[in-house]
Amino acid sequence: MDKKESFSLYNQALRQWQRAADHVELDPVVNSILSEPKNEITIHFPVRMDSDEFRMFTGYRIQHNNILGPYKGGIRYHPKVELDEVKALAVWMTFKCALVDIPFGGAKGGVTVDPSLLSQKELMRLTRRFTHSLGNNIGPEYDIPAPDVGTNAETMVWMMDTFMNAQDAVNRNAQRHIVTGKTVTTGGSQGRKKATGQGLVFVLRSWADEEGIDLSNLCFSVQGFGNVGSHAALLLEKRGATMVGVQDHSGAIYNPKGIETKDLLRHLKKNKTILGYPKAQVISSDEFFGLSVDVLIPAALENQITEKNAPHIKARVIVEGANGPTTESAESILKEKGVTILPDLLVNAGGVTVSYFEWVQNKTSAQWSLFEVDQKLSYMMRRAFHRTYEVVQEYGVDFRTAAYMVALQKIQKAYQERGIFP
Ligand code: NAD
Repeated sequence: MDKKESFSLYNQALRQWQRAADHVELDPVVNSILSEPKNEITIHFPVRMDSDEFRMFTGYRIQHNNILGPYKGGIRYHPKVELDEVKALAVWMTFKCALVDIPFGGAKGGVTVDPSLLSQKELMRLTRRFTHSLGNNIGPEYDIPAPDVGTNAETMVWMMDTFMNAQDAVNRNAQRHIVTGKTVTTGGSQGRKKATGQGLVFVLRSWADEEGIDLSNLCFSVQGFGNVGSHAALLLEKRGATMVGVQDHSGAIYNPKGIETKDLLRHLKKNKTILGYPKAQVISSDEFFGLSVDVLIPAALENQITEKNAPHIKARVIVEGANGPTTESAESILKEKGVTILPDLLVNAGGVTVSYFEWVQNKTSAQWSLFEVDQKLSYMMRRAFHRTYEVVQEYGVDFRTAAYMVALQKIQKAYQERGIFP
């Protein structure tokens, strides 16, 4: 393996599901098909800045697989977005949708940009121009974007509005499900904002039930205090668990007596950083990963738990809210130490599951209550957990391999039933 290959997130994703492929005797043809994305779209597009100058940006949409349904996956705005990363994220979407058993394939998109350096107006023009440039490469029955790191419900509303305005007037309202994760006013679902954090908590609770652990006695740390991390923290706190450490892009803080989630969110809203929060002390990144906690929740970006910090981790379980937060070498170290890893594929599937609910509601002009959404989400997440858990028990594999095995069996069955065209 050359140096470049060893740093490819896409190759890391490939190796992950290849380990599971051996256990399910994956058909070599299906294996080959899944080894490459179906479509890789790269777009260079101009955006008018507030200064009236034009700046070029690069965006991607990777459509990995659609055997189970339309392509589905988030749009990321981050300065480090590049093709290899988006390809890996698209692969994970294919397996995630198969694992939770929703009729979607896998895709992902992104623009290489630091959204914190753009004004709201610039972000809106960037989003609208990118959506327009994607044109018919996306569609409500073909490829459906959603929010991810650096994007939110507002971004989705701009995408929806741009796409709808490019359609004939009579067809516009039938296109509302072009994106999910919208505001509730514009057709979003109740519970979508907290869905990924909520799904994470359902999975952690299912695991804790199997282990005979009471969540209310646990203390946890969270890396990434955005959509996923903050909602997971809020919900765990509601169940009595205590958050003692938080890290975001600006640094890490710690209070052994507990950090109150809503209080920290108020500070974050005002200051745009968790640093300076008066009721906790600043710690280093190494100290953050070495905290004495029961649960560590990485909910920021990929490759955050590495061979450097893994030896210091004291948590009993790592609950992967983020996609790909654990490197392969870190995973080996953690396995040796007996740390359980509940994998991204399973843990953060709540977001796409409620996105599916939103899509169904838009297609049928229905509006479900939060109670209905939460009940359905709870059922889907627990079912995915138990399917995975059964494979863990039966084959003696780790949770990640088991989750891929469940997903691969479903994808393989679809190829067997449909055959390969022509
Ligand atoms: P977000 O933009 O709302 O929040 C990201 C958080 O990560 C922020 O708190 C940011 O400060 C922090 N962060 C960024 N770089 C960091 C670094 N180097 N070290 C520590 N913290 C850092 O993003 P999000 O939507 O919460 O997504 C987080 C993760 O969850 C991503 O991996 C994303 O792909 C995954 N995910 C999100 C959803 C969703 O519904 N939003 C669904 C599934 C998976």
